[in-house]
Amino acid sequence: MGITHRIQNMPFTLRGDDVCQPTLPTPITEPYWVAFAPAAAQLINIEMGSDGLPINPDWLEVLAGNQLAVDTIEFAAPISTAYSGHQFGVWAGQLGDGRAILLGDVNKLELQLKGAGKTQYSRMGDGRAVLRSSIREFLCSEAMQALGIPTSRALAVVGTKQTVRRETLETAAICSRIAPSFIRIGHFEHFASTQNIVRLKELADLLITHFYPESANEQDTYLSLFQAISARNAKLVAQWQSVGFCHGVLNSDNISALGLTLDYGPFGFLDHFEIDHICNHSDSGGRYAYHRQPQVMHWNMACLASAMLPLLELDHSSEESQDLLRSALEEFPLVYTKEWQNLFRFKLGLQLELEDDVQLIERLLQAMHDSKVDYTSFFRNLSNLGKDAIPTEIPQRDEFIDRNSADQWFADYTQRLRSEPLSDSSRKEMMNRINPKYTLRNHLAQTAIEKAQQNDFSEVATLLQILSNPFEEQEEFEAYSKAPPLSMQKISVSCSS
Ligand code: AMP
Ligand code: MG
Repeated sequence: MGITHRIQNMPFTLRGDDVCQPTLPTPITEPYWVAFAPAAAQLINIEMGSDGLPINPDWLEVLAGNQLAVDTIEFAAPISTAYSGHQFGVWAGQLGDGRAILLGDVNKLELQLKGAGKTQYSRMGDGRAVLRSSIREFLCSEAMQALGIPTSRALAVVGTKQTVRRETLETAAICSRIAPSFIRIGHFEHFASTQNIVRLKELADLLITHFYPESANEQDTYLSLFQAISARNAKLVAQWQSVGFCHGVLNSDNISALGLTLDYGPFGFLDHFEIDHICNHSDSGGRYAYHRQPQVMHWNMACLASAMLPLLELDHSSEESQDLLRSALEEFPLVYTKEWQNLFRFKLGLQLELEDDVQLIERLLQAMHDSKVDYTSFFRNLSNLGKDAIPTEIPQRDEFIDRNSADQWFADYTQRLRSEPLSDSSRKEMMNRINPKYTLRNHLAQTAIEKAQQNDFSEVATLLQILSNPFEEQEEFEAYSKAPPLSMQKISVSCSS
């Protein structure tokens, strides 16, 4: 069968040499499968065999960056794109896809290879990624998807014997990812920083055409686009908070224009709850600590607002434009708070919205913080509680240092439950659909990585399987739902990847 689908243009991203460059992947020697996600493969029609791998072995070569044609498809014009951005609150100038190459789109989804070699935008980097960070990105992308949180998807991790130098010599790998578009806030900042209003407008129009068509009908199209991007990201952070996910590097170049979780690096899911938990070892100031994520996302939306200012000025005076964007920016905390409150009410099994609910949630989080209660398992097990439970007999009270205030909280909570119409069993069902049993705890990823570094990829596959159904009880995998043993509680993850 010959090539019938020669993918030459990139309808969902940018074109023009001021923002993208033709870029071929650099081949690697002896590629092999480290991990493969059949659910993601289905999105782009890859035919799979009973072993869960593509039937056509050419896919391994394509996802390794060794060839560009497979089945009836030819990725005829791979590119990398330029973007700019603020890193750790400071303007960093031009960055860009230093190690990501966009092969093309299939089924309106873009396929990108991360770690496939140098690009025009690699600066001092080698364009490669290490095995450990590729496995983490792979597993977390698919875990987030299964949690119902918007994210780029991961298709595969391909390994090679080739090494790359980080703090030590490490195995290189390529993670293939899929998203409707990888456009970031940094792309807006790129054009805004060079005062290129024509291209800025093209970027906004592209997003409206493909992803925000409702904004086209609004009188103030670009204001509406800003509001929509900001709202998506506000809801996204509320979802992160709800599952205890810390992104780790919320720089504006890592923030998706579609409200997707993007660029998994030194992320972490909370084990013991510490509201100010810092997952990124390099983030000494805690700029991206758990409790700061909403604020920092808001700050990123302010970067977007200032980048989009020239677009509003096409129709309004400068002062008017600033006022419009400023008010739009003020919507962020409102959208975020509403979403956060809804999610946390559901986590507690509360369907009705009563006045004291927020206080009840906040008291719980404070008590969990004070006693460093395991985040995921606490919420999961809360669904076992009946409306008529007697506080001093609730096993979970033992997780708190201050038993008296825990008893008081459980008393108030069970009383609150009694004003709900749901039966204990229906509420349990509802709660178990929002409180996952399994998350990608750092120590689980670490165990899988260490095995993979010894060429045993079975644990990566097991984790993919477990995390693809995070809300289901999986009896044989009970141990994976537990908090880490003491020896594995302080795994530190840095930006170097
Ligand atoms: P990240 O922290 O992975 O989001 O990366 C920040 C910036 O550094 C992006 O522009 C990346 O493309 C670039 N970068 C990170 N690692 C490398 C590498 N090994 N080679 C080239 N560029 C890189
Ligand atoms: Mg990045």
